[in-house]
Amino acid sequence: MNQPGPSPLMAGDPQLTVAQARAAIAAALHPITDTEVVPLLQALGRALAVDVISPIDVPAHDNSAMDGYAFAGRDLHGTETTRLRVVGTVLAGAGSVAAIGPQECLRIMTGAVMPPGLDTVVPQELCQRETGAEGDWVSLAPFVLRAGENRRERGEDLKQGHPALRAGRILRSADLGLMASLGMVQATVFRRLRVALFSTGDELCAPGEPLAPGCIYDSNRTSLMAALTRLGCEVLDLGLVPDQPAALRATLNEAVSRADVVLTSGGVSVGDADFTRDLLAELGEVAFWKVAMRPGRPFAFGPLRRPDGAGGPVWLFALPGNPVAALVTFYAFAREALQQLGGAQVEPMPTLRARSVDAIRKRPGRTEFQRGVLRQDPDGQWSVRLTGAQGAGVLRSMSEANALVVLGHDQGSVAAGEPVEVWLFDGLT
Ligand code: AMP
Ligand code: MG
Repeated sequence: MNQPGPSPLMAGDPQLTVAQARAAIAAALHPITDTEVVPLLQALGRALAVDVISPIDVPAHDNSAMDGYAFAGRDLHGTETTRLRVVGTVLAGAGSVAAIGPQECLRIMTGAVMPPGLDTVVPQELCQRETGAEGDWVSLAPFVLRAGENRRERGEDLKQGHPALRAGRILRSADLGLMASLGMVQATVFRRLRVALFSTGDELCAPGEPLAPGCIYDSNRTSLMAALTRLGCEVLDLGLVPDQPAALRATLNEAVSRADVVLTSGGVSVGDADFTRDLLAELGEVAFWKVAMRPGRPFAFGPLRRPDGAGGPVWLFALPGNPVAALVTFYAFAREALQQLGGAQVEPMPTLRARSVDAIRKRPGRTEFQRGVLRQDPDGQWSVRLTGAQGAGVLRSMSEANALVVLGHDQGSVAAGEPVEVWLFDGLT
C-alpha cells in the first residue's frame, strides 16, 4: 500500500487507490508545533515534543544483579574450589562500603552498590556457606562462574547525555516509567489536536431522545468521538446538522474557527440531500473524493480556508454516513493523519497475516475491508473468520470484530485457508 499518489491536490476527480489517497493526505499535512508541559501520568498516549536526554547514568552505580556474595574476580580459582571469607553485608540502598582484602567477600543483595574493587557476584544458590570457629566462609565449585558475572554496570541501561526517547514518540507505560527512572516528573508534549465533529442527516436522532418515525439514532458521532478520544484528540462536539446547505455552512464555519481538523459523517454522496462535498468546494478545496474501496465510498478530503487566512488550513475528512464505512475510512485515512498532524511519529495499524477461514469473493481494482475475528489456533498460527453480514450499515459486525481483513487493490478472490492481511483494532499500550 505504498505507491505514491500522483499529486496531493488534484485537478479533476479521478478515482484514487487507497494507497494513493493515504499518500496524498500524508503529503498535504503539516504537524502542529504548539507544546505543553504536563505531569508525567497525563502524558500517557500523548506525542513527546522534544527528545528526552538522560540527565544521569542508569544505573547510577555498578551494582549486584543477584542476592549472593561479592568478591574480586581475580580470587576465583580456575580448577579448584574457591573459598572466601564473609566479612560483612551490603544492602540495596546502602552508601559506600569499605574495601576488603584478598580471598574475602561481602554478602550482597540485588541492586546493592558493588563495593570498590569488587567485580563479581556469586549467587547464593551456587555456593555453600559454612560457619566455623574462624568465622563465616562461602565455597564454590570450579567452572560455575566467570569473573565479572552478575554485576550490572553503571550506565549500562542509559548513559548520561544520551537520548532516552525521541520527539514524536507516542508515550506508553514503559516510556513513562523510563522517564521516572531518570528522575523526571513531567513531560513536554504536543498540545492535543482539536477535532470538530458532527453528523449530518435529516433522519438522525440523538440517543436519549424518543425515536421519531422514519428516523435512526446517530451512532457515528459516538463511535468517532470514542475513536478520537483514544487517539488523544480534544473533541469539539458540534452535534447533529440537518441536510440544509445553510446549516452545514454555518457549522463548518464554526468548526473552522475553533478546530485543527473537521470530521463529518454522511451527506458526501451524490444524493439529493448530499451537500458536504459542495460546501468543501465552496469553503476550501476538494482534494479528492473518489477512492476505490469498499466499504468507504463516498469519502472526501480537502482543506477548508480559515476566514482570517492565518495559519494553515483546517482539514476536512468527510466520512460516509454508513456506520461501518465511517469507521473504516476513519482507520484507513483519518487515524494516521491525526497522529501526523498532532506531531506524533505515525504508528500504522498493527498488521499481521492470518489464514482466512472463509473463502472471500473479491474483484481486483479496489481495496476491500471486511470485519473479522482473529484468533490463535492450537498450532500457534493466526486465523481470521469474517463476522456474518458485511453490509456497510451493519455496525454490529464491527462491534463483534477485533480486526479488519484488508484485501489489497489488485487482489482477487481468496480461497479458504489462504493468508490475508489483517489490521488489529488493538495493540499493546
Ligand atoms: P449518507 O452517507 O448520508 O448517504 O448516509 C448513508 C447511510 O448511513 C444512510 O442510511 C444513513 O441513514 C446512515 N447514516 C448517516 N449518518 C449516520 C449516523 N450519524 N449514524 C448512523 N447512521 C447514519
Ligand atoms: Mg445523509
